[in-house]
Amino acid sequence: MNKKALLITIEGIDGSGKSTLIEKLSKKLPNSLITREPRGTELGKMVHELTDKQVINGKIITNTWTYWFLYAAAQSEHVNNIIKPSLNKGQTVISDRYIDSMFVYQSKLGIEKISGILEQSIETPLPNITFVLDIEVEKAQKRLQKRTNKNTNWDNLSLEFHQKIREGYLGLKEHFPNRIHIINADRDKKEIFEEVWKIIEKKLRKDDEDWDLGKRQCGVNEEEDCDSCQ
Ligand code: ADP
Repeated sequence: MNKKALLITIEGIDGSGKSTLIEKLSKKLPNSLITREPRGTELGKMVHELTDKQVINGKIITNTWTYWFLYAAAQSEHVNNIIKPSLNKGQTVISDRYIDSMFVYQSKLGIEKISGILEQSIETPLPNITFVLDIEVEKAQKRLQKRTNKNTNWDNLSLEFHQKIREGYLGLKEHFPNRIHIINADRDKKEIFEEVWKIIEKKLRKDDEDWDLGKRQCGVNEEEDCDSCQ
């Protein structure tokens, strides 16, 4: 494992600015792999299409576990075919949504329970850094109205639904205090990018130092202050 291979994930409600930020990050980290979940693999695209069809009249009609397992299947493809091979080659990976979306969108299943399943089956690596782009739901929806590509049924769920998702993301900070960085996304794109980039740069520097001092223990998660190793 190359010492500088990081798994960076960007999370947040639709319209919070994830793709916009990732585009800027990809220019700063030209050798990184940019991916997305669930649509980072062919199977993931099918899962997205299928689950989107399960949103009817603004309501998800599928059983929560069924829904979750479909996303878990997409994650298995993504982790095993894209994320792990890239990290193993020493390539930093930036993913638009990842494990935290699974925690937040199906939160009623319980983070402990679903993270246990993912750990024992897919062995999903936890990200090194996660940025949660936080913005009021109404403001994010206004941005989406301006977006040119077609919104999905998913984007059209009620304001209350998106509000719950926003709160879910904010609550993740308690579970993963070191990994999660809540970023105020109701700001100029450049300002957001600069704050995010400072955190990544610091992490890259710290990893170099830890490596030199023999502190970094394993590939993805076992750094000194890793949430999963506490
Ligand atoms: P997401 O990927 O989270 O759904 P996008 O990056 O596609 O969000 O952004 C949604 C819309 O909001 C796009 O039209 C984008 O240009 C715009 N946008 C993104 N970030 C900002 C920002 N900081 N300020 C104003 N508009 C933004």
